[in-house]
Amino acid sequence: MFSARALRLGAVFRTRISALHTSVRRSHRLDVAAPLLRTQSYINGRWSSAAAVFPVLDPATGQELARVSDCGPGEAKRAVDAAYEAFQSWKQHTAKERSLLLRKWFNLMIQHKDDLAKIITFESGKPMSESLGEISYSSSFLEWFSEEARRVYGDIVPSPLKDRKMLLLKQPVGVASIITPWNFPSAMITRKVGAALAAGCTVVIKPAEDTPLSALALAELAEQAGLPAGVVNVVPCSRQNTPSVGHVLCTDPLVSKISFTGSTATGKLLLKMAADTVKRASMELGGHAPFIVFDSADLDRAVRGAMGSKFRNSGQTCVCSNRILVQSGVYEEFLQRVGVAMDQELKLGHGIEPTTTQGPLINDRAAKKVALQIADAVSLGARLLRGGSQLAGSFVEPTLLADVTTDMLCTREETFGPVMPVLRFDTEEEAVAIANATNVGLAGYFFSRDVSQIWRVAEALEVGMVGVNEGLLSAPEGLFGGVKQSGLGREGSKYGIDEYLHVKYVCFGGLQP
Ligand code: NAP
Repeated sequence: MFSARALRLGAVFRTRISALHTSVRRSHRLDVAAPLLRTQSYINGRWSSAAAVFPVLDPATGQELARVSDCGPGEAKRAVDAAYEAFQSWKQHTAKERSLLLRKWFNLMIQHKDDLAKIITFESGKPMSESLGEISYSSSFLEWFSEEARRVYGDIVPSPLKDRKMLLLKQPVGVASIITPWNFPSAMITRKVGAALAAGCTVVIKPAEDTPLSALALAELAEQAGLPAGVVNVVPCSRQNTPSVGHVLCTDPLVSKISFTGSTATGKLLLKMAADTVKRASMELGGHAPFIVFDSADLDRAVRGAMGSKFRNSGQTCVCSNRILVQSGVYEEFLQRVGVAMDQELKLGHGIEPTTTQGPLINDRAAKKVALQIADAVSLGARLLRGGSQLAGSFVEPTLLADVTTDMLCTREETFGPVMPVLRFDTEEEAVAIANATNVGLAGYFFSRDVSQIWRVAEALEVGMVGVNEGLLSAPEGLFGGVKQSGLGREGSKYGIDEYLHVKYVCFGGLQP
């Protein structure tokens, strides 16, 4: 099924990976990050053990890194109660007091960035350079929202009646449940918690089973920063306990808000659970980003954009370009240049090795799903130009597929892996139609030097975020969020804090005109 070249490359990578595994087992250990390694739950300012534990594995080697307290519904309820109790006083703190505490937490993250990054690399497989990038991104939300905390303004509305004043006050919604995925184990927490705490809310965090250690390290630093007991709580749990813990976090009447990042399927489930008690909800869900290269594009820039957008975190980001659409005039040249860039820039290995750019996928299930998409595309006529194989553990070779068509699995569902499927198109209308032919709309990218086309396409793409001549978009100042089934609400930017506030109308009457 695979070309001779792909099979040859596969053999080379396989040898490299098994050699690497042997050396990794001997030399790389997470205990280098021991100062921040916590394995118990953090509830009401206390570290406590649950009745059972679950293992956290290094996805590059399968080695056990730690055993973490496996919380159940009892711990989740205790955490919600503690957060509710803490909310009564946290909301009374001045905005400046909350701001200063968030700033201290930010400073501690920067001080411990190397240890925090090592934890991310070991539990998620991400290369160290990207883990350090994640800590920079993650901490920036604490910094940004420490500043935004002091700018939550209400309104004084011109009254139609002389004896009344009309005020619109912004107030924190209350306890927020925060449920996060493994692909950005630190940043997906701070992007929510920074905004929540700045607004005056308290939180209960349920991290992903695969990556609880980053969440617990953040809690340790929150404690060191002096955040009062109960303001931040973390209830790690195994996938087995996730439904019962999730049930408490989505249905308990003391919880006012759910903020979730993860798959669209899980988001729908949580929304249904939250409906009974009519909770506020923010949902950052799956994407299927189009990446369009027009004939007028700066091709060097487009290739750089595609490499960054596709292969960051081995393709496991919700804003990864998932369908690369290239106009006929530059199609073959784009493929040729991307192939060269892949050969020169991508190196598989354990994330802790300084030369690694491509770590493993999060687990074997994820790697199998990607391998299935590749096999499906090849069987339906795609040309396999690079990679194509699942390797030892959950490593997948960076893969380049040409002549991909819209009936193939990789163009119909999110890949979440290092596969670049390239489709050819002739006209702008055709590209926009293909880009929009999906029920999700998170990010979209296109490369063009035609100013009129740039305006037309930026407006026409049905997504929440557009990169024009840019493959990487995320920053705390810019907003994050999608349309269609990619979710509800916005994170980051000046709008992110609104997700944790409600606006109260105060009509102040009986005044002497
Ligand atoms: P997932 O399976 O939906 O899991 C995300 C989180 O939800 C995990 O903590 C998971 O716990 C938890 N969860 C699953 N079932 C639950 C339930 N019944 N009740 C409560 N919590 C539950 O998603 P994933 O595979 O980890 O992450 C990948 C997905 O996230 C992709 O679709 C990606 O596009 C999306 N994502 C979106 C954004 C965004 O901002 N839009 C950012 C990053 C990722 P367990 O780990 O225990 O299963």
